[in-house]
Amino acid sequence: MISIVTPVYNEEGNVVYFHDEVTKVMKGVDMDYEIIYVNDGSKDRTDELIHQLADSDPHVRALTFARNFGHQIAITCGMDFAIGDAVITMDGDMQHPPELIPKLIEKWQEGYDIVQTIRTTTEDAGPVKKMTSAGYYAFINAISTTRVTPGGSDFRLMDRKALETFKKFREHSRFIRGIVGGLGFKQTSIEFEAPARHAGVSKFSMRKMLHFAMDGIITNSTLPLRMAFYIGVLAAVAGVLVILHVLYCVIAGQAVPGWATMTILISIFGSLNLMGLGIVGEYLGRIFEEAKNRPLYWLQDDTASHADNPYRET
Ligand code: UDP
Ligand code: MG
Repeated sequence: MISIVTPVYNEEGNVVYFHDEVTKVMKGVDMDYEIIYVNDGSKDRTDELIHQLADSDPHVRALTFARNFGHQIAITCGMDFAIGDAVITMDGDMQHPPELIPKLIEKWQEGYDIVQTIRTTTEDAGPVKKMTSAGYYAFINAISTTRVTPGGSDFRLMDRKALETFKKFREHSRFIRGIVGGLGFKQTSIEFEAPARHAGVSKFSMRKMLHFAMDGIITNSTLPLRMAFYIGVLAAVAGVLVILHVLYCVIAGQAVPGWATMTILISIFGSLNLMGLGIVGEYLGRIFEEAKNRPLYWLQDDTASHADNPYRET
């Protein structure tokens, strides 16, 4: 049995179309399936629509978050509830083409535990998004121990075995690509071209995108902390040289000038200090979030659909 997990946030223009397309594809695959829609606190008719789908199609399960928790958490919730032998996560806006599902399943049947997909192009991504994305992946791979494939997406298949391991990762700041990359098992990937959205606009605001990018870096590596330390060491060495220079000037009786040096040094070291503090703060903030140990998500209707979930959070 295959579980398809789809997070939906204000996707009233897409869910029904998406559902029809996925259903068509799944009818062609000789396997039982379920489609789990996780409504991530939508403010439009998405919730009503997924519940209508659940009423008319026994393959559908509809889960509704009590508020918006974000794409990564919504996927996680769907995976917690999935009962299939393999789970496929995919976006609900048709940017992850349902026609690829049989290919993912084929790879799984060949014996792969994780089948990742890689975007070669995205139709509606501008040059700026493409460039920042490429730069970002280069940076994250330079600083982290596990590899994150450039163009990696959250459209992937995971076998039950890999899924059960993934479910043990309960951190709040999550960059699923990084976690999955580090899981090991037998992984493979297939490439695809992401078409433009079917309807609506991207739900990732600049702010969400930046936060997500920061999570990717911080949850994957402690190198920025060490960098702050190394930069501090370099600054200290430079400081010692400056002290020697100042002492020399005093002894040589030329101690009056130096206003320019002072100003420059204060501003450089002042900003280095703040930068270091900022990096520490980013980690500290996340430690605080994790230490509170709140549930990852909670549902609007904590009854029937929740009862069978081993990861039930109260
Ligand atoms: N999404 C979500 N919660 C959010 C933002 C997005 O569940 O806070 C869903 C959205 O409905 C879609 C998927 O995540 O199914 C990907 O979002 P989107 O298409 O907006 O991202 P993009 O493709 O622009 O990166
Ligand atoms: Mg999209």
